[in-house]
Amino acid sequence: MAKLTISNLDKRFGAFDILRSVNLEIPSGEFVVFVGPSGCGKSTLLRCISGLETVSGGTLNIDGKDVTNVPPSQRGIAMVFQSYALYPHMSVFDNMAYALKIQKLSKADIDSKVRDASRKLQLEPLLDRLPRQLSGGQRQRVAIGRAIVRDPKVFLFDEPLSNLDAALRVQTRLEIATLKQSLPHTTMIYVTHDQVEAMTLADRIVVLNAGRVEQVGKPLDLYERPASLFVAGFIGSPKMNLLVGEHAARFHASTIGVRPEHLTVRSGGEGWAGRVLRTEHLGSESYIYVDIGLEEPMIARLPGTSVFKHGDAVVLQASEQAILRFDAKGGRIDR
Ligand code: ATP
Repeated sequence: MAKLTISNLDKRFGAFDILRSVNLEIPSGEFVVFVGPSGCGKSTLLRCISGLETVSGGTLNIDGKDVTNVPPSQRGIAMVFQSYALYPHMSVFDNMAYALKIQKLSKADIDSKVRDASRKLQLEPLLDRLPRQLSGGQRQRVAIGRAIVRDPKVFLFDEPLSNLDAALRVQTRLEIATLKQSLPHTTMIYVTHDQVEAMTLADRIVVLNAGRVEQVGKPLDLYERPASLFVAGFIGSPKMNLLVGEHAARFHASTIGVRPEHLTVRSGGEGWAGRVLRTEHLGSESYIYVDIGLEEPMIARLPGTSVFKHGDAVVLQASEQAILRFDAKGGRIDR
């Protein structure tokens, strides 16, 4: 059991404020995902939690104990990076057993912990192999196994799947979801750029913007009820369509937003009239890019294969409920 409390955490590198007064409470057993644009401070926050980075202000608390100045090895935290850095000359078993040998555990204890972790990660048939005899996904699982055997209270993942190809990413993502179920009391914090990983793995997502917490919430809450224009534009792929000027003024807002899947495309009628610039067919769905005379085209997401093609005159429609309204400061109206 490990509740993590981050209070007023600041981090400066020289003259740069990288993290600004971050406050977060992460209950025991929760899976939290940090997302945000490149450079917003996700990895730095993770490294501050792990102790690899000192903080410039504020406190970190694990289970009621102030660990702000506790060395990394004594925080009960394990971290898995995108580059898995296994010992190349050691078998999978020995890679996983290494930290336990250093801790001078008995041979029987080491054996049982390594076997237990390898069962959770389906590594049992691979225990005698060397890292170079493994696929990228298998290596990443060994890296996770190496962390599990230490029985951490808090598990930190820094983009663990970013070096894997698309199919392996999906497979390893599902394995991490299974792992989460098999370790219900371990608190997990995960940094990713991948929208699908964030939406599917997280109990709660933390959206960071320039070193500050922009919004914290359940994935679908952030998707359906973003608190700000920033979160609306950041969560979701393809991005939410954002319209300003007269389009927004009609709805008494500074900006309005509508998700691509909430648009229907017609050949006539009321709505946003324009021309199809491009269509993308993904097999299961299609993206239709429509120029309505704004800087950026609007994107509609339709199921299946669409009949619309470049140059077609179309009208985009959305129901009023599907339109989110934002004020001049980027806050959502009617929250
Ligand atoms: P990405 O998604 O690109 O990995 P991130 O959100 O994880 O980005 P961080 O790696 O936390 O971002 O970096 C946040 C900011 O801190 C960046 O502007 C980065 O240049 C700066 N930074 C990170 N480490 C240091 C350092 N050791 N010294 C100076 N600046 C640093």
